[in-house]
Amino acid sequence: KVKQQGGSGFEFYSEELQTGSVERLKLENDLRKALQRDELCVYYQPKTCLKENRIYEAEALVRWNHPESGLISPGSFIPIAEETGLIAAIGEQVFIKSCQQIRCWLDKGMQIKVSVNLSAQQLVQSELISFIQQTMNEHDVPPELIELELTESSLIEDPERTVAVLEQIRTLGITLAIDDFGTGYSSLSYLQRFPLDILKVDRSFLKHINSPDPQQATLTKAIIALGHNLNMKIVAEGVETRAQLEFLKRQRCDYAQGFYISPPVPAQTFYELVENYNNQPAPLT
Ligand code: C2E
Ligand code: MG
Ligand code: MG
Ligand code: MG
Repeated sequence: KVKQQGGSGFEFYSEELQTGSVERLKLENDLRKALQRDELCVYYQPKTCLKENRIYEAEALVRWNHPESGLISPGSFIPIAEETGLIAAIGEQVFIKSCQQIRCWLDKGMQIKVSVNLSAQQLVQSELISFIQQTMNEHDVPPELIELELTESSLIEDPERTVAVLEQIRTLGITLAIDDFGTGYSSLSYLQRFPLDILKVDRSFLKHINSPDPQQATLTKAIIALGHNLNMKIVAEGVETRAQLEFLKRQRCDYAQGFYISPPVPAQTFYELVENYNNQPAPLT
C-alpha cells in the first residue's frame, strides 16, 4: 500500500512512486545506502503548551539529506520504506538520534520531551522494548522525555498483542500518542482499549474551523471533549493561523503544533527558537 502523506511535498522520487519497478528498486537501494552512509537526519517541530504559551516538547521528523537532490521529505520515501521493511531500521535511527539530541539539549540546560513516530513494523519486533531501553540508557535519557506516536492503522493489525507491547512501553515510563486521529476508520472503542496518553487531532479537522459551516468546529470540539473525558491530553496538528490557535485555546486543547508556531527545523534552530519563544511574556490566563 502506497500511502501518500499530504502537504509534505512530492520531490525527487514522486514520479518513480507511480511508475516502474526499476525506479522503485533504485529508490530502495538508495535508501539502504542512505542508512549505511548516515544520510538521514532529524528535524524537530515544537508543540506549544497552550495554557502556558511555552515550548517543552517537539516531534522528531525524519529527513533524507540526499547527496544530489538535497533534503527529501518523508512523504517521498516512507511509503517505499514501509513496503520494503526498511522503515524499522529508519525508525531505529530516528530514535537513536532523538535520544542523542535530548541528551545534548539537557547538557545545555534545556529539557525537551521528544515524540518519535513508531511504525507498525517496529511494534511487532520482539527486540523493540530492549532496543528502546538500551538506547535511553546509553544516552542517559529519562523516559519522561520520550513519547512514541502510533497511527490507528498500526494499532488494529493485531490488537491483543499490541496492547501487551504498549503496556510494556508504558511500564518503561514512556508516554504514548495516537497520531492523525480521525483519519482512520476503525471504531472509537480502541481509544479505551489501548493504553494511550495523548490524542493528536489530524490537521484535516482544523482546516475548516473558521468556515461559516459550524459543523466542522463541532467535530473538532467533540474530539477534544472525547479525549479529555478519557483522560488524554490533546495535541492539535497543522495549526496554520492565529484564528485556529485562538479557537484551540478556547476549547481547552492542551498543545498546538503547526506552521503558525514553526515548521520542523534542525536541532540548532530549534534550540534558538525555544530560547526566544520561552522568553516571551506568558499569557494572562
Ligand atoms: P506526522 O507524524 O503526522 O507528522 C506531521 C506532519 O505534518 C509532518 O510532515 C509536518 O511537517 C507536517 N506539518 C506540521 N505542521 C503543519 C502545518 O501547519 N501544515 C501542514 N500542511 N503540515 C504540517 P513530514 O515531516 O513531511 O512527515 C510526514 C509523515 O511522515 C509524518 O506524519 C509521519 O507519518 C511520517 N514520518 C516522519 N518521520 C517519521 C519517522 O521517523 N518514522 C516513521 N515511521 N514515520 C515518520
Ligand atoms: Mg507523528
Ligand atoms: Mg500526525
Ligand atoms: Mg499527519
